[in-house]
Amino acid sequence: RSASKPALVVDDLHKSFGALKASNGITLDVRAGEIHAVIGPNGAGKSTLISQICGEIRPDKGNVLIGGDSMNAEPAHQRARLGLGRSFQITQLCGEFTALENVVLSLMSRSGRLFDLWRNPRKNREYVDAAMEWLGRVGLEAQRNALASEMAHGERRQLEMAVALARNPKVLLLDEPMAGMGPEESAKMTALLNSLKGRYAVLLVEHDMEAVFALADRISVLVYGKVVFTGPASQARTDPTVRAAYLGE
Ligand code: ADP
Ligand code: MG
Repeated sequence: RSASKPALVVDDLHKSFGALKASNGITLDVRAGEIHAVIGPNGAGKSTLISQICGEIRPDKGNVLIGGDSMNAEPAHQRARLGLGRSFQITQLCGEFTALENVVLSLMSRSGRLFDLWRNPRKNREYVDAAMEWLGRVGLEAQRNALASEMAHGERRQLEMAVALARNPKVLLLDEPMAGMGPEESAKMTALLNSLKGRYAVLLVEHDMEAVFALADRISVLVYGKVVFTGPASQARTDPTVRAAYLGE
């Protein structure tokens, strides 16, 4: 398999809700190590695209490929096992558990060994050490014993990243990771996402254009369920189609 083969391919996805075409022939790909941002106005079909990639919504037509393999027959949990990670939109956190416990749960679900800790309490240390490393990666070591439900919004989102990363995904789908964040929290998330560059194939849906231009290698613009532009971020800045469709010029 060639190194340049895309980690994720979306091939001609169509999805209607009644008369509304939420996806009207969407084709794009995300290369290994790349951050590919998908931008577009509200209602353009970005979240519907992500739901079809993860297998939560079935397309009417079209295909999703991970590592070159068709996902059409694979349910969402199988796609997750094959390396598809998703964050935000649906919160994956258990509010009554601590930050550390949330990451431990994620590690256990990856190994499929939910009862390890009961069977073999000595495993405890292994999971806790690994979870602490992930908390460190997202800057939450000090909050390890905080209940997820009592953490600040930005911290919960950092924790969701740790939970997603602990499952060791190859492809990460991020639906508006900066939503509802202040400038300081946004900057932290941007730094975290930047540190992921080169390690994961990331499809990033985001409205914060400062973050998009800071992070994206390529940008696709989605309008009414259609990709109207795909290209390098540098080109997107000045492309007239992008400016017209998205920046309202
Ligand atoms: P975005 O994430 O770009 O804001 P969405 O993918 O959430 O857009 O929605 C695209 C369009 O599809 C919107 O017009 C939305 O109202 C519609 N839509 C999304 N999900 C459903 C659904 N389950 N049933 C009916 N219409 C939906
Ligand atoms: Mg959305």
